[in-house]
Amino acid sequence: MAIERTLSMIKPDAVAAGNAGNILQHFEDNGLRIVACKKTRLSLAQAQAFYAVHAARPFYNDLVTFMTEGPIFAQVLEGENAVAHHRSIMGATNPAQADEGTIRKLYASNIERNACHGSDSVENAAGEIAFFFSGAELLG
Ligand code: ATP
Ligand code: MG
Repeated sequence: MAIERTLSMIKPDAVAAGNAGNILQHFEDNGLRIVACKKTRLSLAQAQAFYAVHAARPFYNDLVTFMTEGPIFAQVLEGENAVAHHRSIMGATNPAQADEGTIRKLYASNIERNACHGSDSVENAAGEIAFFFSGAELLG
């Protein structure tokens, strides 16, 4: 299997609840190496741009408001099949449908306040990594 990198975010709900450390540990326990990590707060413009693909969806305005309500953690994770592996350990978008032991089952409140984000393709991962990090910040 290929070694990939993916962009992961711990969303404001999980940071505010004090679960960032547990979630980072969950990544490492599941074979994903943290090659970059920062705590930051998205501006409205940044949140709108990051989720621009959803701009036409009815939940878009609520989503960007949620994503700017407090700090997030952004990290680049590396490992075998990292994009799909990371999404599998996050669990389903709606925590009510997430498998036991997944991050969203453990820490998410509902389909919007769902604790974490993960890139959905290698191509999108590259763009999302560049959104947060310069090449020099990726300490493989
Ligand atoms: P993410 O992109 O954040 O990793 P995802 O790929 O599982 O999540 P998407 O369909 O890309 O899900 O939706 C992006 C985010 O928008 C979701 O994680 C969630 O926070 C929010 N969202 C998605 N669907 C809904 C909905 N029906 N109602 C409210 N919020 C939603
Ligand atoms: Mg998505």
